[in-house]
Amino acid sequence: MKKLRQFDMESYRILAELSKAIMFEWDIATDRFYVSSNWKLKFGTEPSSEKFSHHIPQIFGMHPEDTDELTSYIENIQNNNAIIEHTKYYKKIEVRLLTKKHAYSWFQLRLLLRCNAKGLPERVFCMITDINLQKKEYEKLLYRAQIDVLTGLYNKATVQAMIIDYLRKSRLQNKNQALFIIDIDGFKEVNDHFGHLFGDAVISDLAHCIQNSFRKSDIVGRIGGDEFIVLFKNITTEELIVKKAQELIKLLQRTYNSNGTNYKVSASIGIVISPLYGTHFDDLFQKADHALYYVKEHGKNNFHFFHENLPDPQYISTRTLEITNAKNRPNQKAFHENVIEYIFKILYRSQDANVAINLILEMIGRKYNISRTFILEKNAREEYCNTFEWCNEGIVSLQSELQNIDKAMAEKFFAHFDENGIFSCDNTNLLPAELKIYFKKSPVKALLECAMLNDGITAGVIGFECHHHPRLWKNEEIEVLSFTAEILSVFLLKKRAFDKMKRSHMQALEILDYIDSFIFVIDKNTHEILFANKKSLDVFGTYQLGKSCYDFISCEKKPCDYCPMLLLTESIEQAQKDIYFPKRDLWVHAVASQIHWDNTREVCLLHCHDIRKSDIHS
Ligand code: GH3
Ligand code: MG
Repeated sequence: MKKLRQFDMESYRILAELSKAIMFEWDIATDRFYVSSNWKLKFGTEPSSEKFSHHIPQIFGMHPEDTDELTSYIENIQNNNAIIEHTKYYKKIEVRLLTKKHAYSWFQLRLLLRCNAKGLPERVFCMITDINLQKKEYEKLLYRAQIDVLTGLYNKATVQAMIIDYLRKSRLQNKNQALFIIDIDGFKEVNDHFGHLFGDAVISDLAHCIQNSFRKSDIVGRIGGDEFIVLFKNITTEELIVKKAQELIKLLQRTYNSNGTNYKVSASIGIVISPLYGTHFDDLFQKADHALYYVKEHGKNNFHFFHENLPDPQYISTRTLEITNAKNRPNQKAFHENVIEYIFKILYRSQDANVAINLILEMIGRKYNISRTFILEKNAREEYCNTFEWCNEGIVSLQSELQNIDKAMAEKFFAHFDENGIFSCDNTNLLPAELKIYFKKSPVKALLECAMLNDGITAGVIGFECHHHPRLWKNEEIEVLSFTAEILSVFLLKKRAFDKMKRSHMQALEILDYIDSFIFVIDKNTHEILFANKKSLDVFGTYQLGKSCYDFISCEKKPCDYCPMLLLTESIEQAQKDIYFPKRDLWVHAVASQIHWDNTREVCLLHCHDIRKSDIHS
């Protein structure tokens, strides 16, 4: 016996080492158990060897949903319930166990029972292998097969199967459900005017709203381009359905602007109650569809219940449950993969940068279920001001509070930004004390901030906040949000620089207008006037662009030989003299200076001061 035990242990040890498996042995009579040395490496603790059968879930840090199979295997052996005719009792179990990283990972347990000569259970050997990667890969494949990639909702085939399955079960329980079919109104126009990518973003956004307005237990899916289906489960009253439908109608209204024209989308909803009007999917689907077409024919942007007296629809329904989308758009990418394209499209298509930025903050906010998205920009006094903000439903605006924030305070946060200019905080309660104080009275529980850098200097911050609870930012989320912030930041900084240039240009022109002299900008070679200030126009009359200076100023037919502009050479950049315009009977002190206007012209600034009333020439 002893020999057999040694042989088993040794072969297991070798196998375990070869496969990196962890192993344990349970001695049934003493209820003690022994683990291999790599157990601690994986799980972080050395389990107690006593009373194994009493502490199985704790020893393994087992996920509560996965405990049954192993505990019943052990119980069966202990109670000798299993009729163990053979000397081996082999079992494979897949469970989630808590690793030393405090996260559940999938493992496979291969259990082998050894019996003594009398055929009575003596010991169990087990090899534990990490199968997390394979399991995750499998789950991913399964998920991909069930999910509509654009919206993340169940696809048509899956949602149909789930509803059929649920209806079958609920028939026995006599519960009420409502089936909603939702079709977006006017979606084609948005697609046509803003392009397919923008249309995709709109669908994704609307799908998110639909999903968020139902409970997790309800079944929500996308059944076509702009069509969705929902099974609203276990409804007690019809009022509840009416309330939900009204809420959805309001929530799904959007207006998009292009070249001053508004394009509106809204939703039409057909509803049927089960079991009142049926308990089978096909029947219910047809009735909800009938109600939906009634809404479409009566002005859209509304909902209607199916009932027997509903007039027959004037159409042949094309809404059949076949997979249509995949064929037409094989390369449809998920929203996060397309997000950059959407954002660029929105930015370069929009007439109004402010509208575009607000739309992007909203789209990103909704997609990633963020409470508040915002932009803080540094002003000329180096204070930070909240210039843009989007708040999710029920979130209170902080924009008016976040104005003129002191630079020193803002910089306390910048010190915590990483080398990519990103500051992510999963829980504001865990921030260092010097930052935590700012969140004492704040609703913010988690945040992600991205620096707006202008030539390496922080010019502002683009941020994403969660108000209700802490949030572990996933890598994919940080990637998409920080990249969005980067694009917005480049766009906004360019816009600010352009606005500033435009403002200083306007200011310069205004200053020139108030100077009590005649000021002209003239092309030296063609004598064309490129600019004239207000005083010149007041005195010399309005001029048409392109008129020559000698014609406009001195009423001559050819260039004036007394003009100081003629004295300018490569080495003489400025020349001045008093000159007389005989045709206007006007004495002026004229200063001609070479200036840079654009690279293609030689340009002169001519500044003439009226000296008729001065001592010398009066
Ligand atoms: P109605 O108000 O009557 O519902 O008309 P509508 O303009 O909303 O158009 P309809 O529902 O008849 O058709 C939906 C359009 O959605 C047709 C198709 O061009 C477009 N579409 C279908 N799938 C997709 C998709 O995945 N992405 C985008 N952007 N458009 C899609
Ligand atoms: Mg539609």
